[in-house]
Amino acid sequence: MTTTRFAPSPTGYIHVGNLRTALMNYLIARKAGGTFILRIDDTDPERSKEEYVDAIKQDMEWLGLHWDRIERQSERLDRYADAADKLREMGRFYEAFETPTELDLKRKKQLNMGKPPVYDRAALNLSDAEKEALRAERGNGVWRFKLDHERIEWTDGILGDISIDAASVSDPVLIRGDGQVLYTIASVVDDTEMGVTDVVRGSDHVTNTATQIQIIEALGGACPRFAHHSLLTGPQGEALSKRLGTLALRDLREQGVQPMALLSLMARLGSSDPVELRSDMAELIEGFDVNRFGAAPTKFDVQDLFPLTAKHLQSLPLADVADAVADAGVPAELAESFWEMARENITTLGDLKGWWELCRDGAEPLIADEDREFIAEAVALLPEGPFDGETWGTWTKAVKEATGRKGKGLFMPLRKALTGMERGPEMATLLPLLQVIRARG
Ligand code: GLU
Repeated sequence: MTTTRFAPSPTGYIHVGNLRTALMNYLIARKAGGTFILRIDDTDPERSKEEYVDAIKQDMEWLGLHWDRIERQSERLDRYADAADKLREMGRFYEAFETPTELDLKRKKQLNMGKPPVYDRAALNLSDAEKEALRAERGNGVWRFKLDHERIEWTDGILGDISIDAASVSDPVLIRGDGQVLYTIASVVDDTEMGVTDVVRGSDHVTNTATQIQIIEALGGACPRFAHHSLLTGPQGEALSKRLGTLALRDLREQGVQPMALLSLMARLGSSDPVELRSDMAELIEGFDVNRFGAAPTKFDVQDLFPLTAKHLQSLPLADVADAVADAGVPAELAESFWEMARENITTLGDLKGWWELCRDGAEPLIADEDREFIAEAVALLPEGPFDGETWGTWTKAVKEATGRKGKGLFMPLRKALTGMERGPEMATLLPLLQVIRARG
């Protein structure tokens, strides 16, 4: 059975880049009728914060990315310790004592000599007595996994056939000197024990994948299918990493971006299928295929989310936005007609308030000197209330007859006088909502 997971580290708020990973894994699971796990990668007790765990859950719920199970790595430390023991017994695990400065020096030397900066395995030559002495001097060493120096190969769901020479990769550190288990082994143990069949993650994890494949094999697990999506860049192709802080999902939510707009963009951006606004999750699932994504960096422009949000809102019935309409201050008896008027004139629900203020308080009229008389005449011709959808037509017909004006010369000064703007909603829909005029009528 297909099982996928989204595995954020709760060290910050999740952003559009994380969402891409979450969504792809979610859609794969749902499309196959499988299981989607939310896995909290919280093995780092210093950087992991409970508030971020809560925030991740909130963001996922907001988007409707419901998980079937939640797992926390901090509750599974004994499993990782067992796996580490197993690797130790197999002779695939060794303790190394280099300090970060020493490692850095080694790397620089290798680079100077035109060699790849791969850990030289000097620790493998330490005698027990030397290790004792180093331990006494520096404390416990780190534990590295001894890679088999052969080619590591897999067929990637996005990148195609991959072949990496293990000798070009440093033996990964799986346990730190202070005993903290690192993600590389924790993730392997979880993926294996939780029966994860498909792993989609960013292409920054490709080397990790190579080493994890060997660890999985050493532990006797089954390898999931891997797919590595490209990383997002800004609209000009610039690195997004620094700006991701401002592209947190909660910031987008604050700005009024609608979940469906965000999901529709992310389910297609960087794939050979066009971005299309989807109306619900079922459509997203139906139209998703991870194999159609490309390896090239994917340009993301936050501005693209707003036209999609506007389009999505336009399609909604009042029932779906009733809370927002009420929050904008619209009385219940006007909600239906207000929404009819406003839906095509907003980008986000945050714009409702402005339209309601216009309806409630009227606008500062925009009247050109040459139109003053005309407007006075028109006001005198305003029909008696109650106003409805016909009022605008009846009124402007009367004004036309009385003043001889027609077309733009007739309608534009009226629009500007009533709304203070040259463009906006259908006047026929807006007029009955204008409380000031209504009071006069
Ligand atoms: N916690 C890891 C990350 O956020 C998970 C990577 C993975 O999907 O394996 O990068």
